[in-house]
This record gives sequence, C-alpha cells and structure tokens, in this order.
Amino acid sequence: MKTLSNINASSISDAVAAAQQALGNGQSIAFSGGGTDLLQQIKDGTDRSDVIINLRNVTDASQITSNGSGTAIGGLITLTDLSGSDVSAVLAEAAASVGTPQIRNVATLSGNVTQRPWCWYYRNGFNCYKAGGNECFSVVGENQQHAIFGGGPSFIVHPSDVAPALVALNASFVVSGPAGERSLSAQEFFVLPSQNPQQENVLAPGELLSGVNIPSAPSNTVSTYHKIMDREAWTHAEVSVAAVLTLAGNRVEAASIVLGGVATIPWKLDAVESFLVGKELTEAVVREAGALAVADAQPLTKNGHKVPMTSAAVERTLMSLASV
Ligand SMILES: Cc1cc2nc3c(=O)[nH]c(=O)nc-3n(C[C@H](O)[C@H](O)[C@H](O)COP(=O)(O)OP(=O)(O)OC[C@H]3O[C@@H](n4cnc5c(N)ncnc54)[C@H](O)[C@@H]3O)c2cc1C
Ligand code: SF4
Repeated sequence: MKTLSNINASSISDAVAAAQQALGNGQSIAFSGGGTDLLQQIKDGTDRSDVIINLRNVTDASQITSNGSGTAIGGLITLTDLSGSDVSAVLAEAAASVGTPQIRNVATLSGNVTQRPWCWYYRNGFNCYKAGGNECFSVVGENQQHAIFGGGPSFIVHPSDVAPALVALNASFVVSGPAGERSLSAQEFFVLPSQNPQQENVLAPGELLSGVNIPSAPSNTVSTYHKIMDREAWTHAEVSVAAVLTLAGNRVEAASIVLGGVATIPWKLDAVESFLVGKELTEAVVREAGALAVADAQPLTKNGHKVPMTSAAVERTLMSLASV
C-alpha cells in the first residue's frame, strides 16, 4: 500500500481549501465520508490518492432543514439518520436498504451517491475504461450483474441505492468547489459512460457533493423503494425501483419512476411515467407499465434475467402504492 496523508476538515469550506492546496502541490486527493467504500478502494488499489480529506468532523453539512419550498439535506448526514428521517418514504427506505447497520451508521449520503463502481474487473485491477484503459472486459466476460440500460463503452451499474430515490424526488445536487457552490439537476450530475467512461458524475478534482435539495411535493404524494438482491441482505441491488406517485384516489396525477442496479446511471423511466398519468392503478395498467419499462433494455450475454426481473419489480412497486 502506498503512503498517504490524512487531513481532518472541520467545515465544507475547510475541505475545499485543503483540496485546493493539495492539488496545487501536485498531489491527488480523495474526500472521505464514512470511508466504507474509499477504504476498500485504497486496499484494492483503485484509489491511489496522496491525500485523504476526511469529512467526518464536518458539522455544517449533516442537517435536514425544511421550508415552504422544499427540504435541504446536508451531504454528510449518515444513512442511519437519513433512514430515520421523515423527508420522504422512498428516501428513507433506500437509505435503510444499504449494506449493514454498521455501514449505515458511518456511511454518508454524499459517499453513497459518489461511490465508485463495484464491477469485479475494475475492483480487481483490470485496466479497463474505468481504470483509464481502453477496453471493457465485461462485454465478453462475466456480465451477470452489469447494465441493461445506458451501457457502452463501460457497462457498470450505478451502485447507489440513494441516488435513484433522489432522482425520483427530482432533487438537485449541491456541489462545492474552489469556484464556490453550484446546483445541478440529476441529469446534469450523473454522466453516461458514453459521455465520460472514467467517471459516473461531473465532479471535477477538488469539488465535493455538499448536499441535496428536494422540492416540496403535493400532500397526496406517495412513494416507496423496492430492492431485489442476489442474496437476502447486505449487498447492492440486482434491480431496484424508486417510485413517487401523486394519486387522486387510485388515479395517477404525476409519476416519477427511477431504476437502480440495471443501468450506468439512475435510470428514469420517462415513457412509463407518461403512460401512467391519468390512469387508474389497476393490475392491467401496472402490468403494461412493467412491460414498457423494459422495452428498450439491451441485455448482455449473461444478464438477460434482469429484464423480466425489472418489469416484475416495476409492477410490484406500483401495485404496492396502489394499495396505500
Ligand atoms: C459489504 C458492503 C455492502 C454494501 N452494500 C451497499 C448497498 O447495499 N447499497 C449501496 O448503495 N452501497 C453499498 N455499499 C457501498 C458503500 O459502502 C456505501 O454506498 C456507502 O454509503 C458509501 O458511503 P461512505 O460515506 O462510506 O463513502 P466513502 O467511502 O467515504 O466514499 C465513497 C466514494 O465517494 C467519494 N466521496 C465521499 N464523500 C464525498 C463527497 N462529499 N463529495 C465527493 N466525493 C465524495 C470518496 O472519495 C469515494 O470515492 C456496500 C459496501 C460494502 C463494503
Ligand atoms: S463494465 Fe466498466 S468497470 Fe467493468 S470492466 Fe467494463 S469498463 Fe471496466
């Protein structure tokens, strides 16, 4: 393992300044929230930063504050605190679904959203696109858990459980860096591998995700997060569905549905959303919605099972909201 140094930041501005100074000295940096992913990256050599900027002591970015127009959530909030919050069911359930209680007690919202891919080739030292190389080993290799949407040239699945919930809630992402603060929509924050095969988001060196803002929703809004895994607990999604519906009785007034575990970014189902608006949530309608959800799926050689799994997950998630 290489030698690295650690800086304990006490505020977001302190962290940005420390990053700027290290980068100015020609050193590479990584921010650490709970460190539950970063430590693994350091051990397996996918992160070779010179300086770790530890955000654990940052106290100005772990609160939830609400006003008439929405809710601001600090990026350093732990997943345990997020899962116990009453901001939105879909967000609390997504946070509660991550890993183990021990992980959730230290892992942060920002670290969850910015965690790196868990593709076994990348994590085991293969020099693929994500590692700066110019090939993807999963295309002709072991791709059982890879993407059926948004793939090429890398076919990772975006690993975050919290990200699909945030996208479904139409959250904006607050990024802090040397030029100050900027706010981005999910469409602007997450990037497809065709846009940048090495990164999953637009963060530039020295920039960090400091929080998210969630707009207020009508009072007749319901939401939920359903996650299917390849074992009973403590792992990433094989398929997940974040659904936010505004309902008048059982009729859909507005729908926001985002998939996790099956695409290179949180995957918004625009066509399904449009299809649902104005319809009653009957069994026939949710079945059609499930079929529509996978109409554009492009499975690889060994992950075809994700297609029926995804349509069934969409059906089941919608049906669970119909009975609320
Ligand atoms: C056994 C196990 C099971 C897991 N299961 C799940 C699961 O079910 N679902 C899931 O989503 N994840 C899972 N994870 C992955 C990971 O541990 C969690 O996603 C966790 O939420 C990461 O948060 P963290 O604060 O510990 O991130 P860290 O490890 O601190 O950081 C993760 C990455 O984000 C960067 N980073 C951290 N904070 C910031 C910031 N504020 N701005 C910009 N970059 C930042 C780091 O440099 C690093 O590259 C699992 C991990 C393990 C080891
Ligand atoms: S899917 Fe992405 S991370 Fe995995 S081998 Fe291909 S390029 Fe690398």
